[in-house]
Amino acid sequence: MTASLIDGKAFAEGLRHRIAEHVSRLNAEHGITPGLAVVIVGSDPASQVYVSNKSKQTVEVGMASFKHELPEDTSEADLLALVRQLNADPAVHGILVQMPVPKHIDPDKVIETIDPAKDVDCFTPANVGKVQIGLPGPVSCTPLGCLMLLRDRLGSLSGLNAVIVGRSNLVGKPMAQLLLRENCTVTVAHSRTRDLPALLRQADIVVAAVGRPEMIRGDWIKPGATVIDVGINRIPAPERGEGKTRLVGDVAFAEAAEVAGAITPVPGGVGPMTIACLLANTVTTASLINGLTPPG
Ligand code: NDP
Repeated sequence: MTASLIDGKAFAEGLRHRIAEHVSRLNAEHGITPGLAVVIVGSDPASQVYVSNKSKQTVEVGMASFKHELPEDTSEADLLALVRQLNADPAVHGILVQMPVPKHIDPDKVIETIDPAKDVDCFTPANVGKVQIGLPGPVSCTPLGCLMLLRDRLGSLSGLNAVIVGRSNLVGKPMAQLLLRENCTVTVAHSRTRDLPALLRQADIVVAAVGRPEMIRGDWIKPGATVIDVGINRIPAPERGEGKTRLVGDVAFAEAAEVAGAITPVPGGVGPMTIACLLANTVTTASLINGLTPPG
């Protein structure tokens, strides 16, 4: 392997330390304890794990955590009523409704109901717009985490060619906005893109957010490029025993690591950054709600 490894786990730990310092300063100087409310509907095991991790890390950085676990058959009206109650609660500065919600609930209605001032996932149109024009506010957690890793590794990103594979509202599109703000030349590829390998061979920065295990091969990567692999895919791992599985990204890691300058592993790359950025966003919204300038 020639690429250096981008250790998202270690970076996220450092970020959580810095967040804890901001939280304690907000508390000491302004009497504010940022509060994050997490709402989960139903009992999807993966979502349960995410929500528990989020609540645990919220408390660890000194913030208040409010966890609302609702049964699978909760009506849309009841969920929206809870969101409105959290909108009005002065102890709550961030509201996160764990997606996906059960099929009988319209996720767009849930997002529309969240007060943009408390929208720490950056799902509401108001906050998406703010990111686009560069106003202060929460920033989509996973793209923000990717950006932090890139800045840490490369310093200035100005003038670099960035290719993002994937155009979801959750990852690809906000990632494009953030990299444009950094003065990258940004290309967003998707399922209809022609000749993705040729496009990627021009890229100084690759952000892969596709959801297809190891789709991006090593010989698609420009030598020395920085590769950020957002994908989390569980694949069978018979070598570990019958019925065993393992996690891989959207990039064929072993191949790409022979060509790239730096690369994130899966797991341990982008994943740990997402929750840390959620906490960072809660500090941002708690600051803005109280008329304070959020930490940079
Ligand atoms: P989506 O399914 O919403 O979007 C996938 C995107 O990939 C779409 O834009 C799609 O194109 C594009 N795509 C699909 N097939 C191809 C192809 N063959 N060539 C080029 N582009 C293709 O996924 P998400 O953005 O939500 O997530 C992407 C991955 O990131 C998943 O593995 C997910 O688990 C992971 N993830 C990880 C997070 C973390 O914290 N690390 C957080 C969020 C997601 P089109 O629009 O044309 O259909």
